Amino acid sequence: MGAFIEAVELCKTYRVGKVEVPALRGISFNVQKGEFVSVVGPSGSGKSTLFYLLGGLTRADSGHVTVDGDDFAQLTDAERTRMRKRKIGFVFQKFNLLPTLDARSNIEIARDIAGVNGNHDKEYFDKIVGLLGLTQRLHHRPSELSGGEQQRVALARALINKPAIVLADEPTGNLDSKNSEIVLNMLRHSNRELGQTVLMITHNPEAASYGDRMIHMRDGQIVAPEQDPQWNPHTAH
Ligand code: ADP
Repeated sequence: MGAFIEAVELCKTYRVGKVEVPALRGISFNVQKGEFVSVVGPSGSGKSTLFYLLGGLTRADSGHVTVDGDDFAQLTDAERTRMRKRKIGFVFQKFNLLPTLDARSNIEIARDIAGVNGNHDKEYFDKIVGLLGLTQRLHHRPSELSGGEQQRVALARALINKPAIVLADEPTGNLDSKNSEIVLNMLRHSNRELGQTVLMITHNPEAASYGDRMIHMRDGQIVAPEQDPQWNPHTAH
């Protein structure tokens, strides 16, 4: 059996007017099912672009991505969207919650959008909400929640459909250490206990150390750890 996520020679260049900005210059790697991988590297190294490609949010100029046997390039837009909703949970640095909905509805909306209303697993809902310390906060709107609470709601939303893959782009970027720990422990829990494959972009070595391994990026390419000046192995635990 092949890798769960397989990226082959991915290239992506943004065009801004006449200027070409190469973001990915031929990235290849594999991720096995159940791995927790941290993607690290300086700002501008192409991490977010890689995530958009892995999540099927944008298309590569060349190369291809296969996720759980599906090659994004072979799917129609509708098929890609369906696969994304069912198989991938996204967490972003900015929480992207809907301001008019309370926390419970912000979480449940992901389930409704994915069309799995019939499969509501109340026990699972209660469990992740409990682990994220949100049980008492479910009737509050985002404006009534702290940043850390908002990110915990966003993480619950990402996990509610039990996605096979969780893609997290700087999920602790706006959080204090206590909230970072809750979010990272939840990602670890979903990886260890639910077998979800987790890819997490982070600048933070402490957060990166939650992964089983790291992919280091620089200038749109994958590089060896010693070529990543930001990485300080002494902070790993
Ligand atoms: P990272 O997530 O590591 O900061 P990005 O993938 O966001 O890296 O960016 C990689 C490169 O692509 C950078 O040079 C960035 O300026 C450029 N870039 C990213 N998004 C766009 C865009 N929408 N339009 C033009 N250039 C972009």
